[in-house]
Amino acid sequence: MEIKEYVRPSSLEEAYQLMRTRHATPLGGCVWLRMNAKPVALGVDLASLDLDYIRDTGDMIEIGAMTTYRSLETSNLLAKQYGKLFPEALSHIVGVQLRATISVGGTVAGRYGFSDLNTTLSALGAKVVLYPGTITDLATFIAEGAESPFLVEKILLPKGVRGAYQQIRITRNDFPILNVAVAWTGSAWRVAVGSRPAATRLCHAAMQMLGSDPCPSDQTIEAASMQAAEETSVGSDIRASHDYRKAVLPVLIRRALLEVRG
Ligand SMILES: Cc1cc2nc3c(=O)[nH]c(=O)nc-3n(C[C@H](O)[C@H](O)[C@H](O)COP(=O)(O)OP(=O)(O)OC[C@H]3O[C@@H](n4cnc5c(N)ncnc54)[C@H](O)[C@@H]3O)c2cc1C
Repeated sequence: MEIKEYVRPSSLEEAYQLMRTRHATPLGGCVWLRMNAKPVALGVDLASLDLDYIRDTGDMIEIGAMTTYRSLETSNLLAKQYGKLFPEALSHIVGVQLRATISVGGTVAGRYGFSDLNTTLSALGAKVVLYPGTITDLATFIAEGAESPFLVEKILLPKGVRGAYQQIRITRNDFPILNVAVAWTGSAWRVAVGSRPAATRLCHAAMQMLGSDPCPSDQTIEAASMQAAEETSVGSDIRASHDYRKAVLPVLIRRALLEVRG
C-alpha cells in the first residue's frame, strides 16, 4: 500500500476539511485499503482523534470509529448489554492480529457485502453519526450510502436489546456465504441478512409478521423465517449459488429467532 502524502490531524474538523477540499482518504485500520493496488494520494490518519472507545452514556452505548473488532469482542460493557453477540459475530474473522487492527469506522464506511459487523449492528437498530453531526439509521446508511465526503465518527447502540447471530462459511475464517442477525428491541423484532453476497438488508415483512410479541410461537417463527427468505434478494458467487442461499436462509433466521426467544 502506497500513501503519497500522510497527515495525522488532531481534530475531526481538520480531517473533514482535508477530505472536502483535497479529496483525502481517511485511514481506519487500513486492513481493506491495503488490499488495493491503487496508491492513496493523501491519507488522513484518524488515530489521534480519540475515536477508540466503547462507552455507556446512560441511555445508549457509543462506539468510536477507531474502535477495533478485538475491543468489541472483549468488551465487558458490550457483554453486559448484548451477551455473547459480538464475540459470536466477530471472533471467527481471520485472526486476533487482524481483528486488533480492523476499525468499526472503516467497516461501516465501506458497506461491504460480506460484513458480519454491519449485519449485527443493523439488527440491533444502530445509528451512525457522520461528522459534522448527521445521525442516520445504520441499516439505511448501508442500503443507501451518504453524500460524499463523509466521516464516520461513532456508532450509537440502543440498550436493552437482545440479539443473536448466525452464519455459514465454507471454512471457519473464509468470507461468509450468508450472515444473519436478529434482535428483540423490547417492542419489536429486527431481522437483518448480509453476505447475500450483497450488503445487509432488513427483512421488513418478516419483522412485521413477528409483531410486538417477545415470545412468538414456533409457527410464527417458522412463517417469519420463510418470509425473510422470500423477501430477501440473494445472488450467486464463487462461494454459493442463489438456490443454496435461498435454502439456507430460513434455517439461519429460525435458529437466531429461537435463540433470542428462548
Ligand atoms: C483477509 C481479510 C479477511 C476478512 N474477512 C472478513 C470477514 O470474514 N468478515 C467481515 O465482516 N470482514 C472481513 N474482513 C474485512 C474487515 O472486517 C473490515 O471490514 C475491513 O478491513 C475495513 O476495516 P478497516 O479498518 O481495515 O478499514 P480501512 O481499510 O482503513 O478503510 C476502508 C474504507 O473506509 C474508509 N474509512 C475508514 N475509516 C473511515 C471513517 N471513520 N469514516 C469514513 N471513511 C472511513 C477508508 O477510506 C476506505 O475507503 C476481512 C478483511 C481482510 C483483509
